Amino acid sequence: MKINKCYRNIEDSYLFSTISKKVSEYKEKNPQADIIRLGIGDVTRPLCPVVTEAMHRAVDEMSKIETFHGYGPEQGYKFLRDAICKNYKELGVDINSGEVFISDGAKSDVGNILDLFDKENTVLIPNPVYPVYVDTNVMDGRKIIYLDANEENKFLPMPPNGIRADIIYICSPNNPTGAAYSKIQLKKWVDYALDSKAIILYDAAYEAFIEDDNLARSIFQIDGADKCAIEICSFSKTAGFTGTRCGYTVISDELKFDGMSINKMWLRRQSTKFNGVSYVVQRGAEAVFKEEGRLQVMESINYYKENAKIISDLMKNFGTWFTGGKNSPYIWFKCPSGMKSWAYFDYLLEKTNIVGTPGIGFGENGEGFFRLSAFGSRENIIKATERIKSLKALAQ
Ligand code: PLP
Repeated sequence: MKINKCYRNIEDSYLFSTISKKVSEYKEKNPQADIIRLGIGDVTRPLCPVVTEAMHRAVDEMSKIETFHGYGPEQGYKFLRDAICKNYKELGVDINSGEVFISDGAKSDVGNILDLFDKENTVLIPNPVYPVYVDTNVMDGRKIIYLDANEENKFLPMPPNGIRADIIYICSPNNPTGAAYSKIQLKKWVDYALDSKAIILYDAAYEAFIEDDNLARSIFQIDGADKCAIEICSFSKTAGFTGTRCGYTVISDELKFDGMSINKMWLRRQSTKFNGVSYVVQRGAEAVFKEEGRLQVMESINYYKENAKIISDLMKNFGTWFTGGKNSPYIWFKCPSGMKSWAYFDYLLEKTNIVGTPGIGFGENGEGFFRLSAFGSRENIIKATERIKSLKALAQ
């Protein structure tokens, strides 16, 4: 029996374990400290009433012989896929329900989609990055080319001259940087992918935070994207489904490589290795698109957005260089006085009892940067900004 040796090449992920170790040690020495956690990317607000009501009704259906549901379609129930198509239509994107695949979340699809692609492919990944893109490719032994995201390109790198890759990752609005591509910028990526016969894996997990019209909510708003891109989306950040688990992936019927339909390949893959998302959860997800559901979901999104605005206003006051804060729940900023990411983590923890995420944890280009999340409570965000202000913890 031979193991997949590529697993030897995966770096241990110390980021969140180191953060919790440091926080525990600090708490032990300073038991009175009132720690505010602005490091996590998890939501804190509950599912909205329309969603839980729909789920309650679905549970009741499951309890009666006439309305019980066993295995569902692997691709997802049509009622949910139709609701997703309708939602895309409002963005000006025409897709049919056969192009939508329901999953238990974006993370699974981001990893599993690689089943369709040869391990000899070269992958283009921006740095800093959501670590799942890197680790899933290292597990398969693919060659990775990193693309510099930095202060100069405002953490929105454009297609590199003279470099070609087969698989391109784009996450917009981005985790960790909060930066989001404009439609004009994305058109350049689509043209680059079409020219080089590459595929774009577009992670739109944070699309619901976009408010500016010049930014894309979906890569399919860009001409030609149906022929080169797969879009992966999630209810996690849109509707607080991080613990409920539901997402979807859109693959156009037009997407073909080597004469093979990627849509058909994914359907074959999913119906072989996946048995669908529970009926109850899919009914909950469907409710997100109902009129009342949209309003209730937007209430939570607007709450997080207001949090993000409070933090980004603070950055503006201090003259701190940052990305995100608008069209995104993340604020990514330059550590003051040229401090390195972990040094600033310690400084912020000790001086203000605030926990954030060191940028270096997302790749070497994150060194000297720091991520704060707006997913906390308003009370904590206000308390945190007041502490930073009074202790001048962002002063250069
Ligand atoms: N993609 C990005 C960029 C994320 O930041 C996350 C979660 O934080 C995910 C995907 C995972 O989403 P899901 O909860 O749907 O698996």
